[in-house]
Amino acid sequence: MKKRDVLEFATNFYDENQLLELEHAIDYAREKHKGQKRKSGEPYIIHPLHVAYTLIDWEMDIDTVLAGVLHDTVEDTTASLEDIENLFGRDVAFLVDGVTKVSQARAGMRDLSSYLPQTKDNLSKLLIAVGQDVRVIMIKLADRLHNLSTLQHMPKDKQIKIARESLEVFAPMADRLGMGRVRMQIEELGFSYLDPTEYKSLQNLMKKRLGKSTRKLGSVRSEVEMELKKQGITFEINGRVKSIYSLYKKLKKVDGNIDDVYDLMALRVIVEQKEDCYRILGILHGMYQPMIARIKDYIAVPKPNGYQSLHTTVITPNKQIVEFQIRTQEMHDYAERGLAASFHYHEQKSSKDYKKSRKAASLPAELQWITQMQEVASKLREGDEISQEQLNIDLFGNRIFVYSPKGDIYNLPEGALPLDFAYLVHTDIGKHAYSFRVNGNIHAFDKSLQNGDVVEVVTRKSSSPKQAWQELVTTTHARDKLRMQLRKLGLIHSISGAAAIIRDKAARRSRS
Ligand code: MN
Repeated sequence: MKKRDVLEFATNFYDENQLLELEHAIDYAREKHKGQKRKSGEPYIIHPLHVAYTLIDWEMDIDTVLAGVLHDTVEDTTASLEDIENLFGRDVAFLVDGVTKVSQARAGMRDLSSYLPQTKDNLSKLLIAVGQDVRVIMIKLADRLHNLSTLQHMPKDKQIKIARESLEVFAPMADRLGMGRVRMQIEELGFSYLDPTEYKSLQNLMKKRLGKSTRKLGSVRSEVEMELKKQGITFEINGRVKSIYSLYKKLKKVDGNIDDVYDLMALRVIVEQKEDCYRILGILHGMYQPMIARIKDYIAVPKPNGYQSLHTTVITPNKQIVEFQIRTQEMHDYAERGLAASFHYHEQKSSKDYKKSRKAASLPAELQWITQMQEVASKLREGDEISQEQLNIDLFGNRIFVYSPKGDIYNLPEGALPLDFAYLVHTDIGKHAYSFRVNGNIHAFDKSLQNGDVVEVVTRKSSSPKQAWQELVTTTHARDKLRMQLRKLGLIHSISGAAAIIRDKAARRSRS
């Protein structure tokens, strides 16, 4: 990787001024890292250049790319954060600082674990430590990818340590951000170092299996192609092979019997319109016998990380089992690139939106958990009191999707209550909530929402926040907004929580 390679690649994405900045950053980093070598013996600068190249490939904004070039300067060279800020601006310095802090957080997780005694997994701690800007995590992922791809130069024990951390922390992090391709790259590399014997044997097993089925699959594929053409649908079709690590995980679930893994190879159909996805599903089910239990509509109900697709597994007349994944180009793009894809769309707005905004609406629904995480992170940083309860927000647990009557989609943690929804839509909607309708029916304040619910908040100007509502919200966001409103109304501390609940329950009973 040379400076020229990065600059040439960058001309596809950035304007002339930005390219000049990029060149400046590369020259600066090269000067600072001068004399330093990677374990491979190559000059150190090739590492930040690789990281920058990856970030350009993800179509990140220029500040993130600059920070990628500079990401190791503050930690490993004489450069100071002030230098970076003076030369490249506050935003870039902010990102470099974030990346440096992750390294420090990883080294000294101890301070954070005192804040987060109940959080066992490093993942949450790491994310909370850096949560102030998602772009920091993207830089870390690009950094990790390059370090993994040069792992052969490390001593064995280091290899194992880095491989394990990659599988336990970085791959789930990429998954949580919807970055399917990066997750897979990290998993394959990490697993190949963590358990090389198992990796090779699964690779061989896969090869043998695929050899047998590729030809049969080919005939299914051309049969389907012919039918779809006949029906006048514009589409692309290709085969996707299961990754070794996901085969490994799957085999553990089915007691090691590879015959129970139906999606070693799947056919992926990509179309232009959402409607075409359902049409193709219908056509496939007309041609072959579907396995009913394996039909998945992730379009209507996306996976928690925002993944959308239709999945179906069919049995052909000659008993071949084939999985199909059907999605639009946009869904495909998201499945592969996740947050990076949506970052691109949002980038048009000021990047400050990303950093500072407390508005859940500034991120797509499926990624609103990031905002919630950031709220906790900034409190930790400002030294605010964090209650045990607030830390219990389960960032990595299950999420549900609910809809407004207009069809807008909102992402909440499992077990969320109607008021959580109301506050997520808008603080004022929460404030004036009077009652709720879920799927058209009256719904109690203390009854949790389910995935796919359509939730309508009935508001009254005269309705205002009650103390007892504190027991009727589960998200940090709703709780914070509610507390602020209660404080304004002078309602906090004036009456004990328990008394308030009783009073409020009685009030509600008499109302309905
Ligand atoms: Mn690095």
